[in-house]
Amino acid sequence: MRLPQNSPVKRFALPCIIVCAVILAAAAAYVYSRPWHRGFIVTPMYTLAHTNKTAALTFDDGPSRERTPRLLALLKKYNVTATFFMTGYHIGQYPEIAKAVYRDGHLIGNHSFHHRRLIFKSPSYIGREIDAADALIRNTGQTNVQYFRPPYCKKILLLPLLLKLRGKTLVTGTYDPPSEYKTPYNSTNIANEVLENITPGAIIFLHDGSGDNADAFIDSVERIIQGLRAQGYVFARIDR
Ligand SMILES: [Zn+2]
Repeated sequence: MRLPQNSPVKRFALPCIIVCAVILAAAAAYVYSRPWHRGFIVTPMYTLAHTNKTAALTFDDGPSRERTPRLLALLKKYNVTATFFMTGYHIGQYPEIAKAVYRDGHLIGNHSFHHRRLIFKSPSYIGREIDAADALIRNTGQTNVQYFRPPYCKKILLLPLLLKLRGKTLVTGTYDPPSEYKTPYNSTNIANEVLENITPGAIIFLHDGSGDNADAFIDSVERIIQGLRAQGYVFARIDR
């Protein structure tokens, strides 16, 4: 059956096809870039470059008054250097603790300013989140802020492009122990999950930003350090 020249079906067919194609392309990009080891535009750093028995402890969402100073003391006791992905908001709250992290030889990475999902946000919003946290990190004394870990590891769509334009490295990770998010907080379970699932070159997620369960948090990190050392691992910052 031939449709008349001005048929509404004909008029809307092309726009519908274009909209459907755009939605399908966005969905495909989202599905493709969802895993930590893949990204849209850039490939994230999800393990260390070398795969000998080295592990990187990374601590997100801090600094906090409750966990971070005690964590620094623990890392010093075991002579371990680590990477801290801080939010600008928390550096603003505890600038002296952030400076102590830098002074102790740890690497500070950018974890945005407000810790909001940086998807479906405007380029200017995402840019401000990156740049504002960068400025606060530089105030600690660390002049180069190379590494950025997205809040919730959500890295689509504009964020990778904006990081690339700024010459930054997008970091995800290798292993995030599920028990760290469970209630009640169980340090033994967290440590066991890490010790059983670790692979050489792993980048391990932990969180020093919470004000809760500081005793159990410190206990879990100590068990992880002791357990991985017993397995023959050494620890490194993600840039080493
Ligand atoms: Zn986070």
